[in-house]
Amino acid sequence: MANKPNQHQVKAKKHLGQHFLKDESVAQKIADTLSLKDYKKVLEIGPGMGVLTKYLLKKDVETYVIEIDTESVEYLQTNYLNLAPRIIEEDFLKYDLNTVFKDKPFAIIGNFPYNISTQIVFITLEMRNQIPEFSGMFQKEVAQRICSKEGSKVYGILSVLTQAFYNAEYLFTVPPSVFNPPPKVDSGVLRLTRKENYTLPCDEKLLFKVVKTAFQQRRKTLRNSLKTLNLSDNLKANVIFGKRPEQLSVETFIELTKLIENDA
Ligand code: SAH
Repeated sequence: MANKPNQHQVKAKKHLGQHFLKDESVAQKIADTLSLKDYKKVLEIGPGMGVLTKYLLKKDVETYVIEIDTESVEYLQTNYLNLAPRIIEEDFLKYDLNTVFKDKPFAIIGNFPYNISTQIVFITLEMRNQIPEFSGMFQKEVAQRICSKEGSKVYGILSVLTQAFYNAEYLFTVPPSVFNPPPKVDSGVLRLTRKENYTLPCDEKLLFKVVKTAFQQRRKTLRNSLKTLNLSDNLKANVIFGKRPEQLSVETFIELTKLIENDA
């Protein structure tokens, strides 16, 4: 095949968190984590030179990509002609996705920068009505945290809030050597599958507040850490308040939020 013009590789830019996957088998393995159930569109965040995109394009799903880097966008436009109409050159953190998706469901996938990965999860949680599935590469510790259960040292805000709405599975670990340039740490790929009942039986805003407030002082009992919520003595006598946040399952946090909601 004749070489197309402009086919030079994108030079990795540190400020954009660019670590390009160079191992095709890992890219394929990430693409294959999608179940393709309950949606017809997928959004890849940070496609770079399209190593993962290539495998998405082979699947029975309409692939969109959002990429902030002009040089990467030009590379994709030159090398993936069919993708061109579905390349969004924007900052994922600022872009209104419904300009494109118009309230329809879509999955999210990506090997995206570590420094925006937790923000990506929070945006996914906000848009959970439209996002039945999410697969992504994270710094290994962050992936483990998102998927961890109560009792674990790394169980925290991100674990509880994600698992309130999604089943979280840690799928596999990826070593630095498969990236160019290699990051300093191991990576981990996880999948979030939205729960059937993702509308909670409690005030969702209040749940976020309770979870965040409790974990801000994770060594303290809830009786102490939730003082700022001005709860009644009666409620604080409940045995839940003698526990520390890492001892509470997601279900118990929801239960607790209901109790606080009804506290007179
Ligand atoms: N997925 C590719 C590239 C990984 S590097 C691969 O596996 O090889 C991370 C990519 O995310 C880069 O292309 C970078 O430009 C892009 N990126 C960084 N911040 C972004 C943002 N806020 N919105 C969209 N893309 C972003």
